[in-house]
Amino acid sequence: MPVLTRLIPSPLVVDIRAGALDDLAGVLADQRISSSGKLAIAISGGSGALLRERLAPALPGASWYEVGGGTLDDAINLADAMKSGHYDAVVGLGGGKIIDCAKFAAARIGLPLVAVATNLSHDGLCSPVATLDNDAGRGSYGVPNPIAVVIDLDVIREAPVRFVRSGIGDALSNISAVADWELSNRETGEQIDGLAAAMARQAGEAVLRHPGGVGDDAFLQVLAEGLVLTGISMSVAGDSRPASGACHEINHAFDLLFPKRAASHGEQCGLAAAFAMHLRGAPEQSAHMAEVLHRHGLPVLPEEIGFTVDEFVQVVEFAPKTRPGRYTILEHLDLSSDAIRDAYADHAKAVSQAISG
Ligand SMILES: [Zn+2]
Repeated sequence: MPVLTRLIPSPLVVDIRAGALDDLAGVLADQRISSSGKLAIAISGGSGALLRERLAPALPGASWYEVGGGTLDDAINLADAMKSGHYDAVVGLGGGKIIDCAKFAAARIGLPLVAVATNLSHDGLCSPVATLDNDAGRGSYGVPNPIAVVIDLDVIREAPVRFVRSGIGDALSNISAVADWELSNRETGEQIDGLAAAMARQAGEAVLRHPGGVGDDAFLQVLAEGLVLTGISMSVAGDSRPASGACHEINHAFDLLFPKRAASHGEQCGLAAAFAMHLRGAPEQSAHMAEVLHRHGLPVLPEEIGFTVDEFVQVVEFAPKTRPGRYTILEHLDLSSDAIRDAYADHAKAVSQAISG
């Protein structure tokens, strides 16, 4: 009987716990990612300075590189600065922008990337994609998955709580994204990768059902693990499909139509996911999601992040254009603006009942 299997591109090391950062050098040496300790560490100039001060004594062989921002040029400059150093690995130490720059730079100079996330704002910390601003707006660049992911819960707790909230919204949106994938499978025959779907959905469900709050280590552990698994699910699937459906189309539409007023990625994706669940005729799941978003201090309705109903209708109408070729509940229903307005009125009523009940 043939035994067929596949190899999953995944990090060698996933270290998520309080105090993980203090063992960084040891973990990288033990796993032979960096036995010489020659690391190129990308860090932000601002909040990174304190971390650098704290970590530098334990990493004597490291060189430190300040990253200017989150643009393609920043990433290319970083790669140019690092390329002559003969390092074992690149370490991205910081939030999403720093890690995305480091991912791109590491890929460009052919070194493995160690992602050390200092906040949990989205699922990109372990994904095979670097999101960088370019002249045309924002681009997604395919890169190898990080070779190691380190998340120190003590550091996460020091970051502003809005970052944790953003990660919650992004994780919860997986549930809607996987439902969109299944819908597309039924309607268009698009193939589903069952393993990727399982990983992404379970990450979302675990965050949805965890009774803890943003200040609890047990909850942060589940959220961090969920975001890492979501990133790996995208590697398994070969694109962002397991974690990006109507929720993310709406999120992109907010960013594109109202670039100056957009809220955080997870705030937008979370409320969009609750609305998408409503659209697909899953009122209980939509209400449950709304309740959990609200409990964690996330917005549930666009008014809470400063958008009028008219603006939200405009956003939802525009959303399918942000991701041509992706089939979600929005493409499936193909709603007119009046129909979006009616659906939203029903949704808003159901949400206020769910939250007050
Ligand atoms: Zn996302």
